Parts: sequence; C-alpha cells; structure tokens
Amino acid sequence: MNGPRRALVIGAGLAGCASAASLAARGWQVEVLERHDAPAREASGNPQGVLYLKLSAHGTALSQMILAGFGYTRRWLERLQRGRDWDDCGVLQLAFDTKEAERQAKLASAFDSSLLQCLDREQAEAVAGVALASGGLFYPEGGWVHPPALCHAQLQHPRIRLLNHHHVIALRRIDGLWQAWDGEQLLASAPLVVLAGAAEICNFEACAELPLKRIRGQITRLPLTERSQALGTVVCADGYVAPARDGEHTLGASFDFHSLDLAPTAGEHASNLGLLEAISADLAQRLDTSALDPAQLQGRAAFRCTSPDYLPIVGPLADPAAFSTTYSMLAKDARQVPAIDCPWLEGLYVNSGHGSRGLITAPLSGELIAAWASGEPLPVPRAVAEACHPNRFTLRKLIRGK
Ligand SMILES: Cc1cc2nc3c(=O)[nH]c(=O)nc-3n(C[C@H](O)[C@H](O)[C@H](O)COP(=O)(O)OP(=O)(O)OC[C@H]3O[C@@H](n4cnc5c(N)ncnc54)[C@H](O)[C@@H]3O)c2cc1C
Repeated sequence: MNGPRRALVIGAGLAGCASAASLAARGWQVEVLERHDAPAREASGNPQGVLYLKLSAHGTALSQMILAGFGYTRRWLERLQRGRDWDDCGVLQLAFDTKEAERQAKLASAFDSSLLQCLDREQAEAVAGVALASGGLFYPEGGWVHPPALCHAQLQHPRIRLLNHHHVIALRRIDGLWQAWDGEQLLASAPLVVLAGAAEICNFEACAELPLKRIRGQITRLPLTERSQALGTVVCADGYVAPARDGEHTLGASFDFHSLDLAPTAGEHASNLGLLEAISADLAQRLDTSALDPAQLQGRAAFRCTSPDYLPIVGPLADPAAFSTTYSMLAKDARQVPAIDCPWLEGLYVNSGHGSRGLITAPLSGELIAAWASGEPLPVPRAVAEACHPNRFTLRKLIRGK
C-alpha cells in the first residue's frame, strides 16, 4: 500500500479513543470525529468508573473477554497518574445474600488468589475501612478510573487528530473511500472507518439492524467528609461507591430502561442513596446522607449501550441483506460451512455495545479492531472474537429463522 494507512473513528468515548490509539500504534493516521466540544462527554464522562469484573466460573466467552480486558486496561492505566486519573485501591463485591455468597465461593475456587479472594466480614471491613453487613469477593488489582483521563491519554499520539464539533450524519462509499457527511458538508474521508458512537451507530444504515439498547444511568457525587476518608476500596453491591477523587465520592448507578431524558433527577439521587445504605449504613452515616437533600445533590446521567448477550459488538461489518441471502442455506442446515466469501462492507468496523463495563472491554476491543484492520493475529482467542462479532445476530436469526 502506498502512503500511510488512513482511518476515521466516529465517536470519542472509551471505544473510539481506544480504537484510535490501537490503530495509531500500528502506523495508521487517524482522524477522530466527535460531535461534542471534547472527548468523553457522554457515557465515558463520569468522574469515576469502577473496574468491575463480573466473571463466570465456567470460562464463558464473556468471562474470558472481561479477564483479558481487565489485564489490558490495567496496563494502560499504569501510564496515567495514580490518585488523580485512577487508583488501584481494589474492588470489594459484597456477598449480600446466600446466592451471591455461593457464586463468589465458586469463583474463588476457579481463579487465582492474586486476582480475587473471598473475605469474611472482618477481613472485608479491614480492607474497606468502614463497617459492612457481610464479607465479599475482593479484587486487589481493581479500583476506580476517571474515564475522561483514559480517553485523553489514548488520543495523545502524533498520528491522531481529534476533530471536535464534527457530527457525522451519513456515510457514503465512493471510489474505495468512506466519506463522512454532516448534511451537505463532507467532513472527512478514508478507506477505513470505525463506528464508535455507542447506540447512535444504529442511525447508519450498515448498523440499523444491530440490537443495541440504550439504558439511562445516573451517578451521584457525594462530598468527601472527614469520616468518609476512611473508605479504602471501591465497595459494590447493587450499586457502587468509590474512595474520593478530587474531594468527591462517586455513587452509582441507577438503571432506567425507558427514559431518554438526560437531566439528573432527585428521585434517582434518592435511589442511589438507597444503594449506598445497602452497601454500608456506616459509610452512609459517615457521609451524613440523612442531612442531604436529593434535590440539591450533584450528578450526571448518560446512556449505557447494551447488546442482548451483554458482549460488546466489535469487528468488521457485513451488508446485512446480502449476508442473509449469501448464507440462506444455513436456515435449512446450520451445520453447513459454506465456502462463500462474506459480503463485507469493506473497511467498515464497529466498536460498541460495552454496556456497564466499557472500562474493561473497550480498550481491548480497540486492539481487536486494529489487529483485524491490520491483518494481524487477533489479541483474544477465536471463540471470544466470534462471540463479539457484529455478524452474530444476523447469523443467529438465519439459523433460528427469527
Ligand atoms: C451511569 C453510568 C455508570 C457507569 N459505570 C461504569 C463503571 O463503573 N465501570 C465501567 O466499566 N463502565 C461503566 N459505565 C459504562 C461505560 O461508561 C460505557 O461502557 C462506556 O463509556 C462506553 O463507551 P463508548 O465509547 O462506547 O460510548 P460513549 O462514551 O457514549 O461515546 C460515544 C461517543 O460517540 C459520539 N458520537 C455518537 N454519534 C456520533 C456521530 N454521529 N458523530 C460524531 N460523534 C458521535 C458521542 O458524542 C460520544 O462522545 C457506566 C455508564 C453509565 C451511563
């Protein structure tokens, strides 16, 4: 190929910034088109997110992806400033009922103790620095991250150019190049495009059939108090609370499957305070929450973007209609392995669907995209790459006939 390889990335959240960093590291010249005035203004804009590992003892594709992603994100974080951008203070997942305690015991026997350990209540309280109702599973290498810091760090590369205020409305492929248009204006073009706009990617024809869902979530910012300084680790139950960053603890997060309004509500601040009470009544008291008026609390809301199987959607895109026609024989016999080329939309990739765990899955997904685009070996086992592949939904639909 003559000249540098060029790519556009649409969206500057965790997925877009990671895709840009991984492509740039492999020599690609990347333009990142973001509709806001800066990166990390939507889901990736919370003050603190948690490196939360929901693993399975059965080694599922999702669990493998989470484990590999955790290791990869952790290595990235080592380049950032501890205490300001992230902290490896550990993550404690409380065993809040018998079922959860059983699940945690299974995990403790399936994984190495350097990754996770079952703690009884006394041990858990010693790590957390506050009184707790139960013990739990402790991830000593987990912690919190300021997601915008990770996004900004990933964009710091001489081969990456960030274009803010660039809202891509349509994509057209002309003479082997993808053109990104904002109405009548051509914004940029390149042979390769990564769609990293979370659920907004469904506005592009190529992604219109991807089953992505928006789930609104709200976090609450709680001012640090003298007595809340004792909190030594992230503690999670149904919600999570992190040790303070910049004078504030982040408490999260609500789930609203219906609302499309992003104005924070007092009702959700109140329900987040309920989550805190369930995590630790002692911490709630240390934070003096009974004296706080939910209507006066600060916070922010954004949309998570989830897929039906909770795996991210990462990889090259095929033309959905042509895909169904090309592989229609699978509807009759799913065991066939047709020797027909997939009708790829050449040079078009997606990195989305990171749900509630983008800090863990998005950076590694950037590597996956860049490896695919550069013709390199993939950084995850083939079964994991296939489980994340954008074609999986059309394929399942073909095979199941619905
Ligand atoms: C309340 C809440 C709490 C969370 N807590 C955690 C947590 O503790 N741990 C964790 O790992 N994850 C957490 N998450 C999930 C995590 O934030 C997401 O998985 C992650 O931020 C997704 O990154 P993204 O880049 O896919 O999407 P986004 O951050 O939403 O980025 C998409 C970007 O694309 C841009 N864009 C979209 N369409 C266009 C277009 N057409 N043209 C130009 N730009 C476009 C948007 O402006 C945006 O900047 C939480 C999410 C929420 C909402």
